[in-house]
Amino acid sequence: MLSMTPKEITERKALRINPAKTCQPIGAMYAALGIHSCLPHSHGSQGCYAYHRSHLTRHFREPVMASTSSFTEGASVFGGAPNLRQALKNIFQIYDPDVVAVHTTCLSETIGDDLPSIIKKAKDDGIIPDGKWVIHTNTPSYVGSHVTGFSNMVRGIVDYFSQSMGETKDRINVIPGYVEPSDMREIKRMTEEMGVKSLVFPDTSDVLDTPQTAQYAMYPKGGVTIETLCSTGDSKATLALGPFASEQAAKAMETKCNVPFQVLDLPIGVSATDRFVQAIMDVTGKEVPESMEYERGRLMDIMTDMQHHLLNKEVAVFGDPDHLISLCEFLINMGMRPKYVITGTPGKRFDLRIKGILKDWAPNAIVKSDADIFYLHQLIKNDPVDLIIGNTYGKYVAHAEDIPIVRFGFPILDRVGHSYFPTVGYRGGMYLLTNIANTILERKDRDDPDEFFELIM
Ligand code: SF4
Repeated sequence: MLSMTPKEITERKALRINPAKTCQPIGAMYAALGIHSCLPHSHGSQGCYAYHRSHLTRHFREPVMASTSSFTEGASVFGGAPNLRQALKNIFQIYDPDVVAVHTTCLSETIGDDLPSIIKKAKDDGIIPDGKWVIHTNTPSYVGSHVTGFSNMVRGIVDYFSQSMGETKDRINVIPGYVEPSDMREIKRMTEEMGVKSLVFPDTSDVLDTPQTAQYAMYPKGGVTIETLCSTGDSKATLALGPFASEQAAKAMETKCNVPFQVLDLPIGVSATDRFVQAIMDVTGKEVPESMEYERGRLMDIMTDMQHHLLNKEVAVFGDPDHLISLCEFLINMGMRPKYVITGTPGKRFDLRIKGILKDWAPNAIVKSDADIFYLHQLIKNDPVDLIIGNTYGKYVAHAEDIPIVRFGFPILDRVGHSYFPTVGYRGGMYLLTNIANTILERKDRDDPDEFFELIM
């Protein structure tokens, strides 16, 4: 389908073709779903809201609930305050959430609706019942990406909920970044395994990876509670995983509640996970349990077993910046060579960070932020790679160029497992590495002539 993509690369400034990102409100909606009994609310027209809900529903294969201000021509001209007030009345009467998390869209941002004033007036007028919360964040989608929207909503969560009662408790906050429910569950498990009490927020485990019980729950049992969110201001430290998705909220927490923070890479791969574990040890004084040393050892064992198949394999990776930073480091640990590294999220520091990681092992890699999959395809057409790692949209390039692909990141719309099996931590590293190695071996089996077609690999 992409066989007509031209080899010749021309500079484009005002056009994106097959973007390597999606829009801000999707990230905000995802973060809001990590609060227990929260209904995300899209302040804009129904088209945006339907797209955001369906995109998340297709990725997680779970029904994603949300509401909308349903803008029509009138709201587009005169502003959306009456729509939001009416929506809040309906939401609390019919759906009764504990929290409504409002994010904007391109349209309401262009109009310039003043959400804090609208929400305050709704509270003063008794539209928001006592004990209920309406929080907000601004998510203009003509800047940033879904990662920016996630970051903005998590910052909004801190701004609205986090409080300090003045007594530091023996626990840490962990902001997990834009990762799967399975990853958030794994981060909680790892801290528990180390004997550390952690407040992980947002937390979409048991919200977007719920079991089949034959019973519908509008608000599943997962998600971080309001009580927990309010108490985050008394933790001894915050670990923000993924600078693009989590740093902003951690900074806001420090400013508001004086909780010191460390920004770490997403713990994907052995080195980044080591740094995460070390940071927990530094902050809490805990030791690494033997069980976790064994997990690490098993990951190292698979890396060693597979290294002759992975060494020097050239890889094109695309997706979210926080994912790619850790992924590139992991690929290098395995002797692979990232050749093209593309994100649709803007940010010069991404380019600098990736180039720093690749400088000794893959110094000629092409690294580009604010780029698209069309550009990646052109690069591959000119000089192919052995493997593509990225979200589902990469399958068209993989198909056109006959290159194997490992699905990783957001969104994954054509495979299962990503929301159930983590890629963070040592266990997640095993899953990711197994996926990569088996995909390469599968291709080798397909392509090998008879004399090299082996039973044991
Ligand atoms: S980019 Fe803007 S207009 Fe398009 S779906 Fe996202 S919020 Fe709506």
